Amino acid sequence: MTQTESTQTESAAARVRRLDRAHVFHSWSAQGRIDPLPVARASGSYFWDLDGRRYLDFTSQLVNVNIGYQHPRVVAAIQRQAAELTTLAPGFAYEARSEAARLIAEVAPAGLDRVFFTNGGAEANENAVRMARLHTGRHKVLAAYRSYHGATAGAIALTGDPRRWPSEPGSPGVVHYWGPYPYRSAFHARDEAEEGERALAHLRQTVEVEGPHTIAAVLLEPVVGTNGILVPPPGYLAGVRELCDEFGIVLIADEVMAGFGRCGEWFAVDAWGVTPDLITFAKGVNSGYVPLGGVLISDAIADTFRDRPYPGGLTYSGHPLACASAVASIEVFREEGLLDHVRRLGAEVIGPGLRELAERHPSVGEVRGLGVFWALELVRDRATREPLVPFNASGTAAEPMAAFTAACRRSGLWPFTHFNRTHVVPPCTVSADEVREGLAILDEALSVTDRWTT
Ligand code: PLP
Repeated sequence: MTQTESTQTESAAARVRRLDRAHVFHSWSAQGRIDPLPVARASGSYFWDLDGRRYLDFTSQLVNVNIGYQHPRVVAAIQRQAAELTTLAPGFAYEARSEAARLIAEVAPAGLDRVFFTNGGAEANENAVRMARLHTGRHKVLAAYRSYHGATAGAIALTGDPRRWPSEPGSPGVVHYWGPYPYRSAFHARDEAEEGERALAHLRQTVEVEGPHTIAAVLLEPVVGTNGILVPPPGYLAGVRELCDEFGIVLIADEVMAGFGRCGEWFAVDAWGVTPDLITFAKGVNSGYVPLGGVLISDAIADTFRDRPYPGGLTYSGHPLACASAVASIEVFREEGLLDHVRRLGAEVIGPGLRELAERHPSVGEVRGLGVFWALELVRDRATREPLVPFNASGTAAEPMAAFTAACRRSGLWPFTHFNRTHVVPPCTVSADEVREGLAILDEALSVTDRWTT
């Protein structure tokens, strides 16, 4: 029997597992060590495995299923578009794409009126940097150490976290800096306000020492995502905007994870009233039903390319099915009042619920977040803030987090875990009752991590 032949008695789940192991090369994984869950179907905030077990999804997959799984309106829009036109190169104009661009510009901060479509977030960041370089005639880009910007060559070089290491040497002109993180301050700040001030002073020094006339862009995640849901101190984003204006530097906000509802706003920058020159987006724009991303472009940068060609674009950019699903998805956000729902859930249910868990569980060091974008940072000792597992933990060092994940999954919750953190990032459509169901399971699972505290 070859590896791809199945036996008559083999279950559907066993067949999917066997074929997957034989033929699928997984991203970000040691191929011999993973055992992916075979999934049968999904709806709203839940998915079901092939053995019929149901999981409440506190991950939104890769923090992208903002309108929940299988929203009928978006599925129907994709089906309608598929019946009409399934492919058209970027050089043509057609309804789904122009409508998607109009709606995205409509919900963006004023002055960002044009959309360059991509197939995802990394590619959006690659193009935003290219636009900034051509617009300014400068080459350096400042990006934060605690950041993730994607896995393509340029985007992984911009990324500050360790996922960049295996792809080094990176890209010439990328300079990393420390953003604010009050709980583990790189500046020995005593509180959030001091952290914001010192982080700004550090960024200014970095600009000065690198040479402002060489710096095309500052790239940042307005609320840092996979590196810990780091909400900026008041005044920080406005301070970065001022610094960029002072030196003619393009401000790029990577809203791939934080945008389209996750923070209870169309874009996270809206919560601080800051307007970047370029915004990159993907994930929540259409919940990943069909791959889509893009760059929102200020009028000044768009003008640079009025008589001069913009050198970029891929065969499938702005795909009809993707654009049709983005139109339907934005309409769903509006008609179902999802931004209000997310703000209320964050302020009244998730935030208070997580803080209550922190009071009971010594392994919770800090709770932070907004909207449906929250993190619990787990520690061995609250006083010293020693992380529950070391940075880059593997093997037995990673055991406490593995035990936490297993406890959640046994009780039907699919948690997001990264090093010593669990992120609470359900779909924006999650109900208050579903959140409470998930919090009750987190409560049990934190009793497991408490055993490792000192
Ligand atoms: N930027 C941020 C902030 C992200 O969180 C991600 C993905 O998680 C990306 C960029 C890369 O997006 P993609 O995986 O669609 O290329």
